Amino acid sequence: MTTTETALPQRRELRTAIPGPQSQALHARRAASVSAGVASTLPVYVADAGGGVIVDVDGNSLIDLGSGIAVTSVGNRDPRVVAAVQDAVAHFTHTCFMVTPYESYVAVAEKVNELTPGGHTKRTALFNSGSEAVENAVKIARFATGKPAVVVFDHAYHGRTNLTMALTAKVAPYKKGFGPFAGEIYRAPMSYPFRDPEGYSGKEAAQRAISMMTTQVGVDQLAAVLIEPVQGEGGFIEPADGFLPALSEWCTANGVLLIADEIQSGFCRTGDWFACDREGVVPDLVTMAKGMAGGMPLAAVTGRAELMDAVHPGGLGGTYGGNPIACAAALATIETMQQDNLNAAARHIEQIILPALREVAEKTGRIGDIRGRGAMIAAEFVTPGTKDPDAAAAGAVAKACHAQGVVVLTCGTYGNVIRLLPPLVIGDDLLREGLGVLTAAIEAL
Ligand SMILES: *Cc1c(COP(=O)(O)O)cnc(C)c1O
Repeated sequence: MTTTETALPQRRELRTAIPGPQSQALHARRAASVSAGVASTLPVYVADAGGGVIVDVDGNSLIDLGSGIAVTSVGNRDPRVVAAVQDAVAHFTHTCFMVTPYESYVAVAEKVNELTPGGHTKRTALFNSGSEAVENAVKIARFATGKPAVVVFDHAYHGRTNLTMALTAKVAPYKKGFGPFAGEIYRAPMSYPFRDPEGYSGKEAAQRAISMMTTQVGVDQLAAVLIEPVQGEGGFIEPADGFLPALSEWCTANGVLLIADEIQSGFCRTGDWFACDREGVVPDLVTMAKGMAGGMPLAAVTGRAELMDAVHPGGLGGTYGGNPIACAAALATIETMQQDNLNAAARHIEQIILPALREVAEKTGRIGDIRGRGAMIAAEFVTPGTKDPDAAAAGAVAKACHAQGVVVLTCGTYGNVIRLLPPLVIGDDLLREGLGVLTAAIEAL
């Protein structure tokens, strides 16, 4: 595979302990100035990043297997994205699309209307963050259906704003002490093949969720079912085959909208443009952010024209939504994904990660489940011989990787999952080296 990043040497190199003295000095300044409520997984302070590496202020070069949480799929400074941003910023930084509009916003809408699942007529609105996109998808669904209730799932993550905290499942750290939360949110059981009864099918899991919706919410009250087609923060839980199609069919038959939160799983991450594509599921509304703009803050809601256009003029928007520099970055990012076939790159990454994880799982008995698709793969740690979550093991492995210059992230309701989200442009050798550090850390547990 080719990497578009050539200027920054693609290698792991440690010059100091992690974090080094310069990072530690910055960390002390930060502690005296930045809210302690904002935490960092690995407090090395970044000087440069690109391709598959992050270079810190002490000159350490780390392998990036996190992509800033699935954002820098095209790398942190793809030359085509950098050029598009430089060109846009030299023209104008902002006018506010709601005051005096510009072409790049429209072009992004055209692009995502074309790429998102389904051949129906679509419309798009742009926002700044994933949470904001989810909030707006719920606004649109409630407005278009005239109904209040929203169903979300166990292990779901939809953001940190007030409404999206209510939609998110896990209490700590996301919700603890931050209530009261928004009303008319109901939680249904998720299809979780590793923890569902043996042989439980996607159809059966969908029926379990549908039974909850009909008995505890009622279709006459239910505006939308909101789901991550592959869950992100909740542990990269991939529902059993047939679960999403069955939910989608039930929604359509009952006048309930299906909203796919593709904020983490979208834009080539799973080896398809969107995770819904694999089973041909066509949601009524899709939320996007993270990977779509090469690191610039941009988010979108795309949906059926009749739903998106139902809202009165002025009902949707925001000062910065669809910022022109972020839009230029998104257009260059999407073009890069197409030119370099990053869907194929994600599937290629899967072929490298899966055998490495399977081998170490076999050897150690520490990993109960390996799941995910493309460049969105996770290992769930358990006490050997059981399915009991082992968060301490996942934490220790992540810590060992960090100390050796490999950025990995944990996730999961039980905190026992290591997730791998490398940039889709990472070189094979670098990826293999990172995986070598990871698997050695698992063996050393
Ligand atoms: C990250 C994420 C969000 C929230 O996005 P922010 O940009 O952090 O507000 C929502 N949904 C999913 C699935 C996510 O992964």
